[in-house]
Amino acid sequence: MQPWSIGVFASVDAGLGVHLDVAKELGIPSVQVHAPHQETRTKAAADAFLKRCQDAGITITCVFGGFEGESYADIATTARTVGLVPEATRAARIQEMKEISDFAKLLGCPAVGLHIGFVPERGSASYQSLLTGTRDLLDHVAKNGQNVHLETGQETADHLLEFIGDVGRSNLFINFDPANMILYGTGNPIEALQKVGHLVRSVHCKDAKWAPLDVRGTAWGSEVALGEGDVGMETYLRTLLDLGYRGPLTIEREIAHDRDRQKRDIGTAAALLQRLRAEILK
Ligand code: MG
Repeated sequence: MQPWSIGVFASVDAGLGVHLDVAKELGIPSVQVHAPHQETRTKAAADAFLKRCQDAGITITCVFGGFEGESYADIATTARTVGLVPEATRAARIQEMKEISDFAKLLGCPAVGLHIGFVPERGSASYQSLLTGTRDLLDHVAKNGQNVHLETGQETADHLLEFIGDVGRSNLFINFDPANMILYGTGNPIEALQKVGHLVRSVHCKDAKWAPLDVRGTAWGSEVALGEGDVGMETYLRTLLDLGYRGPLTIEREIAHDRDRQKRDIGTAAALLQRLRAEILK
């Protein structure tokens, strides 16, 4: 793949992300994919999806896990339901994430990603057991020759760094999403990127506007089309350049309720990224 290959977040079946056809029609050469439901995580489904990608000249760069019962309705609900942090579902979700890693291996994909959830306070019992569970997952993923990329946004950069350091495994990295830092109100995305940049192995190109100050951190900011928000795409890409990042630039546009607009916005985002890439990487 060329440096800063344009990508889009897609899905194998009914998960988050656009259908593969959108990437194909827009001529986008790489995808991250949302893992399919358990019943379709089969060898036959993997072979069929991989063939569709190969026929379209599309490389799969990361497979993201998601779980039944997760809801992003508001920040409090997200904290209660998302990722490996909720204790009632943790063991089952770690098991499912291992199965997603096995499915990603069938796709020939070297990385799996996830929102791990709102990492608890350092030193708490829940934090300690999350460390143990995460190591267990990482050891399975390592046997598949893969890394885990943690999606950013639910923690500050400092807390994420502490957690990754405390886990102490060599295959735990970061999928940096600048818009999530704004949406969750967890910090200036460029400053966060500078702190965690040495661990960034994949990125989302997504944009957002801050929530008003009085509700920031408790109410969502708003996701907007790339280039129309508060991230500052040129600064974002120049920061990635300074950090030595040359991996894919994966566009994420989370408006699944409006597929026409989603496709249009992804096309516009791809054009913006191609223009900036030409200017910055010349
Ligand atoms: Mg993201």
